[in-house]
Amino acid sequence: MTQTRGYAVLSAKAPLIPYEFQRRELGAYDVGFDIQFSGICHSDIHQAREEWGAALFPMVPGHEIVGTVTKVGSSVTKFKVGDKIGVGVFIDSCRNCKNCKKGLQQYCLEGMTGTYNGYERNSQSIAFGGYANYFVINEDYAVHIPSNLELAGVAPLLCAGITLYSPIRHWKVGPNSKVAVMGLGGLGHMGVKFAAALGAEVTVLSHSPSKENDARAMGAHHFVVTKEIDWQKPVKKKFDLVLNTVSADHDLEPYLSTLATDGTMVIIGLPGKPFSFNAGSMLDGRRSISGSMIGGMPELQEMMNFCGDHSIVSDVEVIEPRYINEAYERTVASDVKYRFVIDASKF
Ligand code: NAP
Ligand code: ZN
Ligand code: ZN
Repeated sequence: MTQTRGYAVLSAKAPLIPYEFQRRELGAYDVGFDIQFSGICHSDIHQAREEWGAALFPMVPGHEIVGTVTKVGSSVTKFKVGDKIGVGVFIDSCRNCKNCKKGLQQYCLEGMTGTYNGYERNSQSIAFGGYANYFVINEDYAVHIPSNLELAGVAPLLCAGITLYSPIRHWKVGPNSKVAVMGLGGLGHMGVKFAAALGAEVTVLSHSPSKENDARAMGAHHFVVTKEIDWQKPVKKKFDLVLNTVSADHDLEPYLSTLATDGTMVIIGLPGKPFSFNAGSMLDGRRSISGSMIGGMPELQEMMNFCGDHSIVSDVEVIEPRYINEAYERTVASDVKYRFVIDASKF
């Protein structure tokens, strides 16, 4: 066992506090690594505050984890000591179902094993996430990191990055696509970068007017402020793909009206309350509403390589652990440029 320092939340809505715990001994296929940076995803906040239902405490959140390998198990072939390594939203899955065999481990039919807020697979041990200084992972559930990328900006790729890359690839975004990104937060800003890199015409739909210059610097061609009355009129029936990353409850109707014929809205954000919409909004233009959850292991590595090739990283604000609670408040207030990342050497 390895004594590990991190931050935990001990009950719903309580603040995060320093917390020490044990990581498991290395199994034959496990890799141990010193965490260098750990991103703060809005999903961490939803779970720490039980906005998605009952959660498991103590909870060490964090599923955007990067570091350097310090130990390898006797049968490990994929990593060696000194390699940069990344871990995302799940740490295991059944490996045998139809989806796992296709590399879609996030849709494992037995359920993926989350990086935290659950138990390690086939175990009574609580899985503790990445707000910590050390991690242990089975080598099959970790990825390599291109050496040209600055590591703090890589951490958010492990969730925010892959969560936008996967639908952008699935819906075949390219030079002829008109893509809208709803919400310029941790996820949304990665969607802008990927869609722009693939040659799409990109529009940001944001309720924060102050983010326009940043959106354009990330590659957006248009910026629409959704706080204004009838904001949707100029972009009615325009978009082939609307990537909905909004974290708060909102009315879908004005956004659905921006979908072109055969356009799709992909639900990515996970606010607490169910959505409702009019049937007519879907019929007119044969529109679709779909959903997408992170990405599987092969696609996670593919995205990392894509980021290496295109020099794409997240825009980050690096913080010390003692700032986590304030970072949570600022994230909820849409006041982050554009992902908080914890310097894990300070735990
Ligand atoms: P985030 O950084 O907080 O970004 C969310 C953005 O939503 C904000 O920056 C803001 O953008 C917009 N927003 C917030 N409140 C709003 C409101 N009241 N009205 C309209 N827009 C509002 O969060 P994130 O980390 O990107 O995560 C976004 C959501 O995706 C969360 O619900 C998270 O749990 C979920 N998520 C899903 C997956 C998946 O696999 N599908 C993976 C990770 C996270 P503007 O300021 O530009 O309006
Ligand atoms: Zn996440
Ligand atoms: Zn499976």
